[in-house]
Amino acid sequence: MTDRKDQLAANLARVEERIAAACAAAGREREEVTLVVVTKTYPASDVRILHGLGVRHVAENRDQDAAPKAEACADLSLTWHFVGQLQTNKVRSVVGYADVVQSVDRVRLVTALSAAAVRNGRELGCLLQVALDAESGERGDRGGVAPDGVGELAAAVEAAPGLRLDGLMTVAPLSGVYAGRQREAFDRLVEISSRLRGNHPAANMVSAGMSGDLEDAVAAGATHVRIGTAVLGDRPRLG
Ligand SMILES: *Cc1c(COP(=O)(O)O)cnc(C)c1O
Repeated sequence: MTDRKDQLAANLARVEERIAAACAAAGREREEVTLVVVTKTYPASDVRILHGLGVRHVAENRDQDAAPKAEACADLSLTWHFVGQLQTNKVRSVVGYADVVQSVDRVRLVTALSAAAVRNGRELGCLLQVALDAESGERGDRGGVAPDGVGELAAAVEAAPGLRLDGLMTVAPLSGVYAGRQREAFDRLVEISSRLRGNHPAANMVSAGMSGDLEDAVAAGATHVRIGTAVLGDRPRLG
């Protein structure tokens, strides 16, 4: 356990350095960027160690793994982000522990999240996941609404009881015109965010950037980076 703590502390310090350097290079304050550590596939004991090291935001992408982990860490003051593709039959469970759902990508999901949030008597933060490579009216291979569907989905969240529209999230596309062009992809997300904020000024979160491309995300203006492997190590399986 001590070894694991040393390892996580060293990894976290390296990631912190990268974020600080990227902020400095972009002329941004370090406080403008929130580190969200993606703990998927790793045990609750790692979450506990990370909390001890100062991490306050964690993310998960599968309800089956996340629900017991969140329960095991219920005594810690942590903000839980859900970042995976979300089936409506999992919504009740997810709303039981998630503070923010970053992967809102269709009206049906908005309806289900709203009903569950109201039932739980709480307000749930929502980010719209944008699939930069999706065609009009389509969803991305890894979830996400097409850029031209953002306005309609934002209006649905805004009108839904129990939900709060916090902003946008994206995963850099593996195919299409943005494949291998993370900086351009994140610039595009920030542009869509600017347009969104015209109608929804409070929706100012921009979640972009992972272990391999956090510098591009910070340079583009991301407010939240989602870091898994660079903190926890290579995942034992796809997650
Ligand atoms: C796993 C995951 C991450 C973290 O990716 P790493 O490359 O491990 O940093 C970020 N965002 C989402 C949506 C993920 O599923």
